[in-house]
Amino acid sequence: AHLDRIAAVDGDVHAYLHVDAEGALEQAVASDERRAAGTPLHALDGVPIAVKDVLATAGLPTTCGSKILEGWIPPYDATVVARLKAAGLPILGKTNMDEFAMGSSTEHSAYGPTRNPWDLDRIPGGSGGGSAAAVAAHMAPLALGTDTGGSIRQPGAVTGTVGVKPTYGGVSRYGLVALANSLDQVGPVTRTVLDSALLHELIGGHDPRDSTSIDQPLPGLVAAARQGAAGDLAGVRVGVITELAGDGWQPGVMARFEESLELLVKAGAEVVEVSCPHFVHALAAYYLILPAEASSNLAKFDAMRYGLRVMPQGIDSPSAEEVMRATREAGFGDEVKRRIVLGTYALSSGYYDAYYGQAQKVRTLIGRDFAAAFEQVDVLVSPTAPTTAFKLGEKLDDPIAMYLNDLATIPANLAGVPGVSVPSGLADEDALPAGFQVLAPALADERVYRVGAALE
Ligand code: GLN
Repeated sequence: AHLDRIAAVDGDVHAYLHVDAEGALEQAVASDERRAAGTPLHALDGVPIAVKDVLATAGLPTTCGSKILEGWIPPYDATVVARLKAAGLPILGKTNMDEFAMGSSTEHSAYGPTRNPWDLDRIPGGSGGGSAAAVAAHMAPLALGTDTGGSIRQPGAVTGTVGVKPTYGGVSRYGLVALANSLDQVGPVTRTVLDSALLHELIGGHDPRDSTSIDQPLPGLVAAARQGAAGDLAGVRVGVITELAGDGWQPGVMARFEESLELLVKAGAEVVEVSCPHFVHALAAYYLILPAEASSNLAKFDAMRYGLRVMPQGIDSPSAEEVMRATREAGFGDEVKRRIVLGTYALSSGYYDAYYGQAQKVRTLIGRDFAAAFEQVDVLVSPTAPTTAFKLGEKLDDPIAMYLNDLATIPANLAGVPGVSVPSGLADEDALPAGFQVLAPALADERVYRVGAALE
């Protein structure tokens, strides 16, 4: 059914970069056989899933939305992909994304943009717009995304889907092509909070192949989602982040946010306002730390090891450096080049303390804001994004306007804390989906599930 749906609508939406119809059907048949034989099954056995194209899939192309990886087929599976396969989930294919996960609209994909199923003239968010659009358009019931500064939660908000960024270290990053190692997390994209909890429990937990993976059992996420869905928020203290709401935010997004708060109160939660004064500097710190890490990570695309190799024109015996230059020139898009230049500059000798060092200090202050806030409340909340989905092309030539979309999602990545975006309804102005964000302390992912599920 999902393959039929892809054939019917993905020509317009373009959520997938690669569909593996044959592989998915084979896995679905194997699941049916297990069921017929009475084999004990995982709850998601046989439920198909789409995977963001930044995760390594053995035998399936993995491009990260970049020309530089065109034609590269990984020889191994990311740990999260291996766990999907072991539990019997058929993999439908790989989803579109901003090149190397840099962006908030999926327009920076080298393979053309994904469109928002709610309005094909609008963006589906980014960088994981493909995963969110696939789930929103019923081309997959589940998907995996990655969230470095909001790339699961913001697409969730603007497509009316649920997206979770787990605690940093809670889900393995082995086989995830790194954007910024200290910020990246893999997480679920689904239509309900309970589906996310099931998927999170499957992909999460310790992995000896990831040195930052946390070696302790996951909290009970499915149980927490069921408790929230039953309307039980008795005794939960909810803090509205002063700095992440109000003036400058789209009125329809704020109206849905206020309504969601009322629902939480009805379920027994107590709502107060909490200030996180350093959050106003989060965007500036992020756009130094992220390019610094990304510029270093992208050095490995040297025309020798992976994917594309472009021979420079008019040179008889080009040196390795000349081949590398021609390949990187042709293989990387504008946004990737912009961030390589920014990151290299921020890390260069003499400027390190002024930029990268300063940004790291701000990062510490943001972590302290979270710690102080979580002394007063159990969860923090805000709208996920300041506006509903904007029009394709609207912010493409204005990187700062594009970056401003990440205002509310970035603090969680800088501090490593978990968060969910849950649909809060359609904004009045344009009848497009808005998102409600719930953040919890590191290792307390169950709280985002309990509070998130109470909103469904
Ligand atoms: N929009 C943010 C950026 O462009 C987030 C990216 C992400 O989470 N991968 O960096």
